[in-house]
Amino acid sequence: MSQQGGDPEQEAGPEGGQTTDTGKTDAARRALVSLGKEVSRQWQKPEQGRQCCQRRGRRPVAVDSSRAKTSAEALRICIQQLKWREFPSGRHLFCDIYWHGVSFHDGEVSCSSQVNKFPGMMEMTRKVNFSRAVRTMQELFPDEYKFYPCSWILPEEYQHFVDQVRLSKENDSSWKPTFIVKPDGGSQGDGIYLIKDSSDIRMLANHHSKPAVVQEYISKPFLIDKLKFDIRLYVLLKSIDPLEIYIAKDGLSRFCTEPYQEPNSKNFQRVFMHLTNYSLNIHSGNFVHSDNVNTGSKRTFSSILAKISLKGYDVKKVWSDIITLVIRAIIALIPELKVYHQTYIPSGKPGPTCFQILGFDILLMKNMKPILLEVNANPSMRIEHEQEISPGVFEYVPSPVDEEIKVAIIRDTLRLIDPTLQKNNYSQSHSTEYSTENEGDDITKAEAHSKAESSSGTEVNWPPLCLKQVFPKYTKQFSYLLIVERIALLFIRFLGIKGTMKLGPTGFRTFIRTCKLSNSNLPMASVDILYIDIARRWNIVHGDRGESGMCLQAFMEAIFLMAQRRYKSPPLREQVEALVNFCEYQLDALDEKHFRGKSDQKSSLIAYHPERPRSGAVSNVHLLNRLSTSNRLQTSSLPASREKQPVKSMNRRASRSIAPPLNILY
Ligand code: ADP
Repeated sequence: MSQQGGDPEQEAGPEGGQTTDTGKTDAARRALVSLGKEVSRQWQKPEQGRQCCQRRGRRPVAVDSSRAKTSAEALRICIQQLKWREFPSGRHLFCDIYWHGVSFHDGEVSCSSQVNKFPGMMEMTRKVNFSRAVRTMQELFPDEYKFYPCSWILPEEYQHFVDQVRLSKENDSSWKPTFIVKPDGGSQGDGIYLIKDSSDIRMLANHHSKPAVVQEYISKPFLIDKLKFDIRLYVLLKSIDPLEIYIAKDGLSRFCTEPYQEPNSKNFQRVFMHLTNYSLNIHSGNFVHSDNVNTGSKRTFSSILAKISLKGYDVKKVWSDIITLVIRAIIALIPELKVYHQTYIPSGKPGPTCFQILGFDILLMKNMKPILLEVNANPSMRIEHEQEISPGVFEYVPSPVDEEIKVAIIRDTLRLIDPTLQKNNYSQSHSTEYSTENEGDDITKAEAHSKAESSSGTEVNWPPLCLKQVFPKYTKQFSYLLIVERIALLFIRFLGIKGTMKLGPTGFRTFIRTCKLSNSNLPMASVDILYIDIARRWNIVHGDRGESGMCLQAFMEAIFLMAQRRYKSPPLREQVEALVNFCEYQLDALDEKHFRGKSDQKSSLIAYHPERPRSGAVSNVHLLNRLSTSNRLQTSSLPASREKQPVKSMNRRASRSIAPPLNILY
């Protein structure tokens, strides 16, 4: 369930997806036609839709679906419903929207168009990179990022893993953890295995072994009908600048097909008991196909919530925790995504606008706390499933559960990014940027959107959006986490030459000088050594033979280190925040000086810099923080020390409150 492969819940890789050039699988088309589905649907054929739009003097939105792969069928249905125009074989003229099946780089897109992938998302959601991004957040905000199981990256952190587990066991002899090992590029549960002891890891500490993540195994999941299940939740990242996140109100639950037992050496190998992957369980004799969304081995998440509610659990709290998890996970991804974005779509130059549907795989623990297993950059949008029609003969047949969920998500994504509504959307998003005080407002985003649609002349009375905006709606509760984004913005500013993702030694020196970070405790000679040391280490970690220099993670490490040296009192988060405030203050002062030098204009433009990437609401929040904290800066020569912490089990932490309570309602 990562980026590649053909998991039914995972989009096929570049070579996958046996689609024709019209994007529809032959088998699926046969099956759909044979069931008379194509005529029974309540939408008009594209030709009719076109006429309808043309009558009103509007050009229908053009969608290039030639690279949509396995999402082509669901996309086609949505385009028909919206009465837009599909170009299944591409188009010489530009299209308004390009729908890619795998990544931003699937093909050329026009500058003024929209594309359904962000550059770098595929890379950032790989198991190793994602674990690294969350780790950075865990170092700064340990309490807020407990929703992701303790993870170590192999082979580089093997010894660290061994030491931490040993330390924890020495501290608590009753602790008998299980770990799950997952290969980095893996999907569909491929190559995954459980271990009890660090010595059971295959390809022990071999530096040539393939990267993988070893992770604490959540051994006490919440069960339904004695079966383990996970939740596939769909999230629309509508924009990263400003950050706009929507969560689908319903998702899918995928069930194991063998009753769950806590892991022991006898059941370790039982994949139908421990792994919820649909692609694995479909091969179990116990797999139940069902046309009913409430039963079977794949159901809607809402049907699970209904069951949970009947058992007396607080469903609103579950939703609130899930929303919190999603926002925090995306905030962890944003810094790197911004660097990728700047590299491929430099600010100030024309370029496409990106959005992306992500698949979040979530496990509910026994105490109802959601745990994030993985984020999928290419969740499968296939609405058919494979069925064995006679021994050994498989055919794709429509899957009502998938269709119900996925068609609504794609259609409402298109409604939200509708280029003919951009003006309306823009003014809405700006008017709701600081809307957390107005959470009680009766006018929801969906209602506002429906109004915008009707005012723009869209004919159909659509149901309310199945996607709910959660950011910037809840900006206030999460803005303090955006410190990592601010570090990324400093990094991007000093990257210099556009098109690179690494900071050279001169860029780093310029950063230190401009932000006045060098002093008697950190002379420039030490700065150079710091740069060489950290950059080289990270280049080895990434196995980079190409571009040399300092990647964002290396830069973050340098910032953390300098912050620890400069400010006396931990926690790290406050030290880092103080350093970032200090840097931003210096840069603002410099910008103001430059600006004053060039014109007579007044100080109201203090934060303006033509090359500085802006982050909408976030930048403004920072400005306030900066003013209030820059006065209490002090320097010290505290040596950096990060002690090894024992592992704290998720399962043992189950009774404790994981995150500070948030007033988030779904
Ligand atoms: P893949 O991309 O190969 O599907 P996942 O990370 O999604 O890899 O893991 C596959 C399955 O293994 C999940 O669907 C889940 O059922 C199980 N799993 C993964 N990580 C954990 C964990 N930390 N604790 C318990 N179960 C897990």
